[in-house]
Amino acid sequence: MSGVYTESLNKLIEEFGKLPGIGAKTAERLAFHILKSRPDEAMALANAVRDVKNKIKRCKVCYNYSEQPTCEICSDQRRDKSLICVVEQPKDVVALEKTGACKWLYHVLGGHIAPLDGVEPDDLTIDKLVERIRKGEVREIIMATNPNMAGDGTALYISSLLRDTGVKITRLARGLPTGSTIEYASGKMLTDAIIGRRQLE
Ligand SMILES: [Zn+2]
Repeated sequence: MSGVYTESLNKLIEEFGKLPGIGAKTAERLAFHILKSRPDEAMALANAVRDVKNKIKRCKVCYNYSEQPTCEICSDQRRDKSLICVVEQPKDVVALEKTGACKWLYHVLGGHIAPLDGVEPDDLTIDKLVERIRKGEVREIIMATNPNMAGDGTALYISSLLRDTGVKITRLARGLPTGSTIEYASGKMLTDAIIGRRQLE
């Protein structure tokens, strides 16, 4: 099959085909679209891809994506700095922010503890979270890890580390279907879960 394309077109089809949800036919269609498009249009796509990789780093406070050393949420003076919502991924911050119900800060763990997959607590930003809390400004930690076994386990592990700090630890309410993810929950479901959050013991 690859012999029918030129080498560079073949490469482009191959790269598109690696993207999630893109099958062989769509990859081919996208590649031909790029080939036919104006040079400036095609370059705009290439530049956008390069920019997200070059410019977007991790916020040095919360580890969310940011183009500045400190992200916009952490720099926002209107936020309640005594509340930290702990999530697994940057996508979860987006889902929670869309509800409009959050005026707190975040901490992005970078995943969940999964020893079978080789993910240990040290691979996440848990130590940085503990450091933030030991500074003493935080009064509540809202655990918004995914409502599945790995997310629950991670939340419990973190709460055990923080037991001696006296900080209140809550978990999003069980309105979220067990086994689901924050990312795909509806805004209404998330808002209810935020309002109904309960202390984690
Ligand atoms: Zn931040």
